[in-house]
Amino acid sequence: ATPTALLVGTGRGAQLGILIKGPEMLESTRTVDTVVLDKTGTVTTGQMTLVDVVAGAGEDRDEVLRLAGAVEAGSEHPIARAITRAAAERGALPSVETFLSTQGVGVRGTVEGRGIAVGRPEAGQPVPDDLAAAMETAEAAGRTAVLVSWDGRARGVVAVADAVKPTSREAVAALRRLGLTPVLLTGDNVTVAKAVAAEVSIDEVVAGVLPAGKVDVVKRLQDEGKVVAMVGDGVNDAAALAQADLGLAMGTGTDVAIEAADLTLVRGDLNAAVDAIRLSRRTLRTIK
Ligand code: ADP
Ligand code: MG
Repeated sequence: ATPTALLVGTGRGAQLGILIKGPEMLESTRTVDTVVLDKTGTVTTGQMTLVDVVAGAGEDRDEVLRLAGAVEAGSEHPIARAITRAAAERGALPSVETFLSTQGVGVRGTVEGRGIAVGRPEAGQPVPDDLAAAMETAEAAGRTAVLVSWDGRARGVVAVADAVKPTSREAVAALRRLGLTPVLLTGDNVTVAKAVAAEVSIDEVVAGVLPAGKVDVVKRLQDEGKVVAMVGDGVNDAAALAQADLGLAMGTGTDVAIEAADLTLVRGDLNAAVDAIRLSRRTLRTIK
């Protein structure tokens, strides 16, 4: 590959809104055959809104939302932002002590002397039937449901919804036409993941993956002989972006993801991933 052709490709990339870390990055895309897409913030907007609050027996919905909103104020996660925004619209939120956030799991903190947890149900935590049913109903509709607990007991469920980006479906179709197999990868549960995958026509779904596990999914595909591009935006995608043969970060995403990736898609639009792969193939053809 001549440095000149690669530099021309890099310049063309910039015009398309694709920032390339080094000209040599374009070479990695030549043989890419699989593209792993993070769900939240990559295929979807990641801007969640609150859609439902369900209180368990003897609990009050407003209280479930108020306490969940207070604890989530310490988290930057899209789920947290949606819950805190909705709670704050209904009144001032109490302050939080001993806040702890666990990536891919949820948050906990002390509010008004009570230990509050918001997130996935903990291993072995009993979830009453009515709350389990509320979670299933929300998830079947493609929503993300989190459990709100205090003093060790499940008290309510909060459901948030995220919308698929308007360009995601056509971008997935274009990636397929380029000969790539799309795979949807998410920490969210399988029901939500499948609903989103169906919306954009992706057949392969890997769901319920903890942040540390995303990199293993990329490694496993590579062990199977696949050459993997990964597109992501979150802190939880950084290791997988670095491990992939080609890492593409959404420009709208976190700095950690952008630093770990080879390319940055400035507009945060999946169509730019299609442009990036086309560009590199064209650049490399010119070189040969
Ligand atoms: P994704 O891979 O789709 O970006 P994450 O790995 O960030 O998703 O989160 C996975 C799951 O962990 C969420 O669906 C949710 O159940 C739980 N979770 C993570 N962060 C929070 C939070 N701040 N509040 C509540 N639940 C959370
Ligand atoms: Mg994400």
